Amino acid sequence: MKELPRGAVLQRDKTTYAIIPRLKGGLIDVEVLRKIANVAEKYKIPVLKITGAQRIALVGIKAGDVEPIWQELGMEPAPAVGRVVRSVKVCPGTAACKLAQQDALGLGLKLDEKFLGMELPAKFKIGVSGCPNNCAESWIKDFGVFGRNNGYTVVVGGNIGNNPRLAKNLAEGLNEDEVFALAEKIINIYKEKANQKERFGSFIDRVGLEEFKKMVSL
Ligand code: SF4
Repeated sequence: MKELPRGAVLQRDKTTYAIIPRLKGGLIDVEVLRKIANVAEKYKIPVLKITGAQRIALVGIKAGDVEPIWQELGMEPAPAVGRVVRSVKVCPGTAACKLAQQDALGLGLKLDEKFLGMELPAKFKIGVSGCPNNCAESWIKDFGVFGRNNGYTVVVGGNIGNNPRLAKNLAEGLNEDEVFALAEKIINIYKEKANQKERFGSFIDRVGLEEFKKMVSL
């Protein structure tokens, strides 16, 4: 099989590619915006698309332009495909939102740094919201977190797709360190015990939520 250019996703026309640079927490600054605008202009990239994972996809790139564009951007590809931790979607939390009850951005960036790209039995998405409004869609993430006055609530096993599934409540009143430790434990259990291609929600259904809670010592 022909090797794809680095970090490139073949498009519907079977001749051009999309690339998606990594943007932690959906944060972007003027310098990066300028670089993206510059390569889009120089390489005549026809489509720039904001993705559901809070990134910017550059779409419609010729194969030979992919590597020079990465070099000019000086950025790493985001893990957009494959059986890995794909995305950490984060709301602004207490950094900006007046409704926030917890520092979602701070926690989300730490989770992104630690887990993004980690290989797992199936794709795995994380959402971190600063309050129960759940702007980062924590209830439809494999590992979802949202802030309340008493700390963070953790919900697990949500996903969208052909068989949408809301996450189930796992723990409440956690501080940031406790959420981080729980995420680490859960991801390791999933990695070790799930079948290949088994989404996290299906794994929880198979073992049972109460049994799963025992596995993570809750
Ligand atoms: S989830 Fe809450 S804290 Fe986050 S952006 Fe929405 S309203 Fe604000």
